Amino acid sequence: MKAMPGRTLRGRLTLLYGILLALGLAFYAVGTSVYLLHDLRKQQDASLDREIETVEGLISVSSEGEVELRSEEGEARPDSPERGYLLEIWSAAGKPMFLSEGLDGSSLGPAPDLTRKPFDRSPHTYRLQNGARVRVEARRHEIEGRVLLLRLAVSEEPLWDEFWDMVSVLAIGLPVTVLLIGFAGYAIAGRALRPVDAMANRAREISAEHLNERLTIQNPGDELGQLGLAFNETLARLEKSFEQLRRFTADASHELRTPLTAIRSVGEVALQNTGDASYYRDIIGSMLEEVNRLTRLVESLLTMSRADAGQIQLQRISVGVLDLAKEAAALLEVLAEEKHQTIVVDGDPSLAVRADRLILRQALINLIDNAVKYSPAGGKIRVHVHAADGNAVIEVQDSGPGIPPEHAEKVFERFYRVDKARSRAEGGAGLGLSIVHWSVSVHGGKVELDRDAAPGCAFVIRLPLEHKEHPLQKEG
Ligand code: ADP
Repeated sequence: MKAMPGRTLRGRLTLLYGILLALGLAFYAVGTSVYLLHDLRKQQDASLDREIETVEGLISVSSEGEVELRSEEGEARPDSPERGYLLEIWSAAGKPMFLSEGLDGSSLGPAPDLTRKPFDRSPHTYRLQNGARVRVEARRHEIEGRVLLLRLAVSEEPLWDEFWDMVSVLAIGLPVTVLLIGFAGYAIAGRALRPVDAMANRAREISAEHLNERLTIQNPGDELGQLGLAFNETLARLEKSFEQLRRFTADASHELRTPLTAIRSVGEVALQNTGDASYYRDIIGSMLEEVNRLTRLVESLLTMSRADAGQIQLQRISVGVLDLAKEAAALLEVLAEEKHQTIVVDGDPSLAVRADRLILRQALINLIDNAVKYSPAGGKIRVHVHAADGNAVIEVQDSGPGIPPEHAEKVFERFYRVDKARSRAEGGAGLGLSIVHWSVSVHGGKVELDRDAAPGCAFVIRLPLEHKEHPLQKEG
């Protein structure tokens, strides 16, 4: 499946960066334009200021009282078309004394208001009757005892032309820059994300049958490399649990087949022979034995698969450890008596743990059952309970052949047997200890084989002791 360009990470990244870039550049362009306008205006105002001083020096009044504007040597008059200034001079009485030709009879503002003092005004913008914008500076000027009011103006059009030129350059340049950088960014993002495509294609090829395959990682140090590594680790875990599942299914089918084969062959033999009632009673007896074995096996398998699926909810209550050990031992008393064995349960009666009674009892039953199974006739089994390092410790010691230390870890694996023939003869399927291991771990405890217990065999369970509340606290 190919990803849609608009939805790809590459597309979204480019779009996001494009928008940010456009905003950044627009901000910069607006800032630059405002600064330029401000600067042009400053320059124009400064030259207007200089010019009005020059004009003041060029004004003269004739003997008839006419106001005249001279020109500097070798220069055109400031209000000539080539210099472009506009000038108007008013008498103090508010009568126009001089108007530049360029003004075409219009004025650079209303007649001066003499009540408003001072008359001097720094440069400001004024719109002429014909719509043209000019920058005007006004000044009070005294000459030969007469007060004159002058206004000098210059067109703002060149300033605005320069400003709009700059704005159009920016307006064209900005989208072009954003587009060019956007394309380049899209290409770079594509290059950077290429390993993702490769990894996705490779991951699609890996199915349940090829879980041993891994992604090729080019740069383990970067983020994509880390993602690839994490994916490979997940594959390794998946491969391991698939393998466990396969082995479990194969072992379980194998274990189920053994009693079924036995039932069938006993039945077939009985069908071929004829016998009296006691003969058939024996046959049915041995068939039921196999059925019992099958039932136990199916129950163990069910417990394991429910435990794997996390379906078993613990009903934790306060459980007296010694009492529970006595209860488990009592259930196996009959089997032990058949073999003339004795089971002794002793230890500290005050120890309690918070546990699911039935699950913990099953663990003890399995351990004591093994002790009875593997100890010889007349053997002695001891279950001892004591406290150590904040834990309740339960030791199940027997007088059997023991377990060689190299099997100490493996005996807790499913279907693992040290002595296959013997275990099968005793009706075991190699699941008892893995159930013990599970039930102790879900209670936050540990079970292990005591390697120094020889002769015989000793399993040690450690479970955190219940935290006893102070009686006064309980009442409060
Ligand atoms: P099983 O149902 O075969 O007894 P378990 O999981 O309970 O399966 O035990 C695994 C193997 O560990 C057994 O097959 C047996 O070889 C060995 N084992 C367990 N308990 C004892 C014991 N008390 N003495 C000697 N061997 C034992």
